[in-house]
Order: sequence, then C-alpha cells, then structure tokens
Amino acid sequence: MTASAVFRVPLPANEPVRSYEAGSPERASLQDRLAEMARTTVEMPLVIGGRDVATGRTFQAVMPHDTDHVLGTVQWATSGEMEQAIEAARRAWPDWSRLPWTERAAVFLRAADLLSGPWRDTINAATMLGQSKTAHQAEIDAAAELCDFLRFNVAYMTRIYQEQPESSPGVWNRMEYRPLEGFVLAVTPFNFTSIAGNLPSSAALMGNTVIWKPSESAAYSGHHLMRLFQAAGLPEGVINLVHGPGSELVPVALASPELAGVHFTGSTAVFRGIWSQVGENIDAYRNYPRLVGETGGKDFIVAHPSAEVEALGTAILRGSFEFQGQKCSAASRVFVADSLWPRLREQLADEVAAIPMGDVADFHNFMGAVINESSFKRQAEAIEEARSRSGHSILVGGGTDRSEGWFVQPTVVVTEDTGSRLLREELFGPVVTVYVYPDREYESTLDMIDRSVPYALTGAVFANDRMAIETAHRHLRYAAGNFYVNDKPTGAVVGQQPFGGARASGTNDKAGSMWNLIRWVSPRVIKETFTPARNYRYPYMDEPL
Ligand code: NAD
Repeated sequence: MTASAVFRVPLPANEPVRSYEAGSPERASLQDRLAEMARTTVEMPLVIGGRDVATGRTFQAVMPHDTDHVLGTVQWATSGEMEQAIEAARRAWPDWSRLPWTERAAVFLRAADLLSGPWRDTINAATMLGQSKTAHQAEIDAAAELCDFLRFNVAYMTRIYQEQPESSPGVWNRMEYRPLEGFVLAVTPFNFTSIAGNLPSSAALMGNTVIWKPSESAAYSGHHLMRLFQAAGLPEGVINLVHGPGSELVPVALASPELAGVHFTGSTAVFRGIWSQVGENIDAYRNYPRLVGETGGKDFIVAHPSAEVEALGTAILRGSFEFQGQKCSAASRVFVADSLWPRLREQLADEVAAIPMGDVADFHNFMGAVINESSFKRQAEAIEEARSRSGHSILVGGGTDRSEGWFVQPTVVVTEDTGSRLLREELFGPVVTVYVYPDREYESTLDMIDRSVPYALTGAVFANDRMAIETAHRHLRYAAGNFYVNDKPTGAVVGQQPFGGARASGTNDKAGSMWNLIRWVSPRVIKETFTPARNYRYPYMDEPL
C-alpha cells in the first residue's frame, strides 16, 4: 500500500568502530564466535528465487593463513543455474519494482541493525577466517562500512527522489525514479565484505532485482551475508546468489537481453573484458546497460621536503601493509625527498621488521596471509625481481612462507629506476616500492607520478609547506579520485569520503554516495497540464490581413 504521507528516513550516522581491546566483552564475544565457526564447516549453496540450490559441482573454502583448514563446501553454478537466476530475477521484478520505497528501505535498514547487533560477530568472524583480516580490519569493513552503506544509501535514495523539476502556471511537472527494466548483475571482489554487500544491495534498494556473483575467494563471507539479507526479510528472488568462476558465469548474464546494468568492483582487466562483451552484445539488449566498475590502482604517497617524517612513516606502514596491502587504495609507490630519506629509511627498517604477522585469530597480529596461491606467486615474483634486477634493493622484508598459509612478509623495495615494473603495475600485496627524488625536483616528480601509470584511484601528499600542497593539488588533479593531504590514502568512510577513481581505476561513480545510486534508476518525467489548450491557433496568427 502507498501511504498518504511523506515519510522521513532515520538520519544516518557512521557506525561506531569497536576497539576489541584486551579484556573487553566485545573481544571475548568475537573470540568465542571465531572459535565456534572454525570448529564447524558449512554448506554454501546458491540462493536462487529464495531457494538453496546444490549443483554437485563444488570447491572448498579454506583459511588463507591455514590452508589445510576447510571452512566449508561451496556449490558452483553452471550456465544452467545462471539462467535460472536470471529467470528468478525476472519473476521477482514486478512486485519488488512496484513496492513502495519505504518498504525496500526498511529491509536494508533492518539488515544494518542486525549487522550492527546480533550478526556482527558472525560477519566479522567470517571475514577474518575466510579473507585473513585482523579483528580491526574486519570491523572497519564488514561491520562498520557495510552498516554505513546500508543506512546512508537509504538517505541518499530519498535525496534523489526529492530532486524534482520546476513547474509553471497551469502545469505540474514531476519526476519519478524508476528501477531499471531487467536485472542488475553485481560482480564483487574478495577484498571487502562491505563492497560484496553493497554492490547487490544498493541496486536492490533502488527497486532492481539482482544476480550477485561473489568472488570465489570470499565465498564464505558472501554466504553469511546472503543469510543476513534473508534474515532481514529480503523477498525471494530480489538478490540471487550465484557462486562460481566469473569467466564462465558472467558471460551468460551479459548475453541476456534483460541485462540492465553491471555493478562491478575488481581488477581493471576483468572490467574491460565485461565492457567489451557488453559492446559485442549491444544489439541484443532491451536497454543500454549501465556499466559501473571500480577497478585497480597503483596508489601513491609523495613526500615534500617539508613533510613530517614520523607521520609519513606511519602512513606508509598502515597504508601499504594493513590487510596485507590488498586494498585497492593501498599505497604501493612512495616518492620521498632525499633530505627526508635517511630518517624515513631508519623508521621503516625498524618498524616494518617488527610487524607481527600470523593467524588473525591471535589478536597480537597486525597482518595475516595473502588471499590465495596466485597472489602469493605474484608477490614472490615481484620480490625476486627486486632482488635480482639492477637499480633495486630490498630495505626490509622479502620473505615468503607457504608452509601453513600464504604468508608474505611486509616488504619495502627501493629503486633508482623510474621505469621499474614495481612502480607501475598493481601487485595487490604487501610490497611497496620507494623512489627517492632530489629535493629540488619536486614538481617534475609530481608530473612523473601523474603520467607513469594508467591508474588514478588514491594518492596522498605529505607536506607542511602550504605552497607545496597547492602545487600537488595542481599537478595531481587527475591522478586520484580520492586525494589525501597528510594522511594515508586508505580508509575512506561512507558519508565522508565517497570513493572511486578515474582513468583505468574505474567509472568513478563514487560508491557510498547518491552519484552511485543514480545509475540504478531510469527517471521518468510527468508533465500534467490542468487547463489544456482548446484551439490549435497561436495569437500571432490572428494579425489582421
Ligand atoms: P578480480 O577482478 O580477480 O575479481 C573480481 C570479480 O570478478 C570476482 O567475482 C571474480 O570471480 C570475477 N571475475 C574474475 N575473472 C572474470 C572474468 N574473466 N570474467 C568475468 N568475471 C570475472 O578482482 P579481485 O582479485 O577479487 O579484487 C582485487 C581487484 O579489485 C584489484 O585490482 C583492486 O584494485 C580492485 N578493487 C577496486 C576497488 C575500487 O573501489 N576501485 C575496490 C576493491 C577492489
């Protein structure tokens, strides 16, 4: 029923981040849940039209930091189940797309409250065990950021709905924001549980039905997220969860005439492949599909001679190594003025060597393992290159250990080679490369930062000199969609720093803002004339002959 009222939604506020300090009840509760979930294994079915579906084709989800430890069995879809998911989304569309927006909002506000309360430990523990995040990294992602996405998106939705055209005498103009015709395909990465939750739910909030293909490497938290949405009362078929390999399943959805949009986060190459396939299929679609993709980065920190070294060193350490450097925003190239380097080198050598790494269930650790075998190999190759190539040296780290899990030591490489691959390619691991520039070459270094990579996601300048900060703003205007002054380039907060980059880093539709949600609607303008014209003639025609 459409109510006779203009409802206001609850004012969103950022979810407070729990500290999990020693002796706190929240720490004890999370540790209990971790132990309980580690003791049991779960079945992870597809969820199509609200029904659990087993296919018999399975793979096992393991802990990256203890790869013999199986968390559960994931059912993999074939193209047949993908077709069933498309059909389920089509069946759910009429009711969901016509439901009053308040009812849709209530589902996701409820999901946020469940996540903030009784589900918090489960979703955090799943993210820790399945993606090797520490308690803090899981908390800021899976609990806090996802609560924020869910609540702020509801408020942004109403801001969009309130955007209405002008009217003129005798005429009432209105604009409604229709859900897209067809389904939205959400394809999500392994590294943020919040992104995995946001990509399907943001499109669904706007009235769309969705097929969600989570990362194979985050199937475990994906499974628990789907159960959270179901617990919040999400109707059947609104979000259909399809596990399995993207290269096999995604093309099936992209070939459907009903494809209305793609909400993707992941690597640049995969998104470019999706874009090409959509281009090839363009004649088959009922609508031009909306393509939103937030992709790779090669994020920088540049330090001017006036920078404060301690703050700089801390930003490099946190910005490069938290969650093993597996954030799209992680600092992976650092440009430092030579007058600062002796002190910075000492700080990094001491502090990075002492970083505790291991099982994330041990709360002393700052880092866990990288996500999978292929990431482990990519880091090992980069480290080998730093060891063997001229013009490169390893300041600290460089060790890898595959005996229990995919462990890569936090590693600082120093290079004199501005063309080094390690300064240009995304490695997505705990390897950061430093280039020391002569103090007087600040401006040309800024230009090099801007031009030497295809990406433009995040970046940071450290400087005390205001003119130097302004110079960085000018030279690096297009080098980052999220730019930081005297802060690390990671840790964007919903409602505060809407996130996304341009160039090869994505379509920059700013997740966590109304600009993203606008992509999931198709506006319709209604002009109503109260006293319609009754004569086709215009006054100018009535001039006497
Ligand atoms: P990925 O590209 O390997 O996988 C992302 C998703 O795409 C997964 O669901 C995967 O199954 C699917 N996929 C993989 N190959 C495919 C193919 N050939 N066709 C269709 N789908 C396919 O990325 P990842 O390793 O999960 O995540 C890391 C990447 O994501 C990094 O490049 C990182 O920078 C990027 N990322 C970007 C942002 C951002 O906001 N810009 C945020 C998080 C991660």
